[in-house]
Amino acid sequence: MGKVAVGVAVVGAVAAVAVATVVVRRRMRSTGKWTRAAEIVRELEEQCATPLGRLRQVADAMAVEMHAGLASDGGSKLKMLISYVDNLPTGNETGLFYALDLGGTNFRVLRVQLGGKDKRVIKQEAEEVSIPPHLMVGTSDDLFDFIAAELAKFVALEGDSFHLPVDRQRELGFTFSFPVKQSSIASGSLIKWTKGFKIDGTVGEDVVAELTKAMERQNLDMRVTALVNDTIGTLAGGRYYDNDVVAAVILGTGTNAAYVERAQAIPKWHGLLPKSGDMVINMEWGNFRSSHLPVTEYDQALDLESLNPGEQIFEKLISGMYLGDILRRILLKLAGEAALFGDTVPPKLKEQFILRTPVMSTMHHDTTPDLRVVGNKLKEIFDINNTSLKVRKLVVKLCDIITKRGARLAAAGIVGILKKQGRDTLRYGNKQRTVIAMDGGLFEHYTIFSKTLVRTIEELLGEEVASTVFIEHANDGSGIGAALLAASHSQYLGLEEP
Ligand code: ADP
Ligand code: MG
Repeated sequence: MGKVAVGVAVVGAVAAVAVATVVVRRRMRSTGKWTRAAEIVRELEEQCATPLGRLRQVADAMAVEMHAGLASDGGSKLKMLISYVDNLPTGNETGLFYALDLGGTNFRVLRVQLGGKDKRVIKQEAEEVSIPPHLMVGTSDDLFDFIAAELAKFVALEGDSFHLPVDRQRELGFTFSFPVKQSSIASGSLIKWTKGFKIDGTVGEDVVAELTKAMERQNLDMRVTALVNDTIGTLAGGRYYDNDVVAAVILGTGTNAAYVERAQAIPKWHGLLPKSGDMVINMEWGNFRSSHLPVTEYDQALDLESLNPGEQIFEKLISGMYLGDILRRILLKLAGEAALFGDTVPPKLKEQFILRTPVMSTMHHDTTPDLRVVGNKLKEIFDINNTSLKVRKLVVKLCDIITKRGARLAAAGIVGILKKQGRDTLRYGNKQRTVIAMDGGLFEHYTIFSKTLVRTIEELLGEEVASTVFIEHANDGSGIGAALLAASHSQYLGLEEP
């Protein structure tokens, strides 16, 4: 009995030692893992830091590049394109106008009956049509015929509350969100197709002429009186409701900004001085870059592996197309170097763009005490199971670092525009209002992003100036904005309704 007891005791002692060793090893491995993880995150935080001093440098650089881009074509990474919009809507516009919005997988048609100063928008109707994928890679005629046919159908189904005076042509604002070299308010040649469109023989052609020919083939008597992009449309839509709107910013899949410039301040402008003395400039600010931008190894890799390496550097730090993929790249690094998700790297972490920004936003806004939503999303997207609360907290922290950097940089860009406009200080003690129209899914849905952006503008401007600056969400400004620009550039301007 005694022997047995001793034996058991010995076995027990050996077992106890073995258990202790395992525990110690586990703890060491886990400590090493967290040390490395903490190191990677600390480095990331340092590289993504956007203290006010740095943001001021970014804002200054933006203003400097704006000057350079206005001085000459190719003078800056900022194209500072002249939009030919010199007549923003005032609210006095009357009549029936149309808009066509092309720039994604869906296109939209819209009609609006305008009643002038007091009545404003009397009635508005819109329809969204998805473009059959084969038309996105087909011929120009097929694409534009399809669009014109849908437009003709839309016109044919017009109710009684819309009125077109007799002997007048229908007028259309065309929102075409692809790179275009504009030659007048209603003409411009396509520089290149993007966003999955690839149509032979259209590059260099006037897109308004293409659409007009297609409308003629459909026996649709309609004239394009304004060719714009979504940013210009948003500016026009904002201005219609608020006379103090002086700039527009899109934060969606991509990002861009437009603002009102004094025509005399545009040296490269060789045309006639516009009537109003003002000209809307399409900045194409997504292509901004500066040595002051906080760029990490993850951003550099993302850029190199992108469809347009070296281009759209600002956009790649800020916009909805990229934020999720920056997060994925950091998670991949943590999986590989700090075994964050176990001994092997989950294969799906290597898939580019598998983590979309809306999912990142959902994780970032998770308010459950155990971050259940984060856990579910990691499982859903990456097949990562059984994460600890500590890991899930770290994921939220990474969302925070990336998103706040993006939002704060966007804020600095906006302050750069205000600087260029002389609206970043109170001039002559004058409390003029400054309003910026914002649109895009990122700004609209990613609350932490938009709140950070607004707060950062306040930080940069200081309380007093900030109290004169307003950020307004212009919901679908671009759709109605194009119709309003069709109105403010109508061929019947100044004529009484017959
Ligand atoms: P687009 O920019 O393509 O014209 P939108 O302005 O509607 O379209 O923006 C869509 C983009 O907004 C998406 O690609 C995505 O990046 C971002 N987005 C949409 N919903 C959310 C969301 N809930 N959270 C964060 N970002 C979102
Ligand atoms: Mg859009």
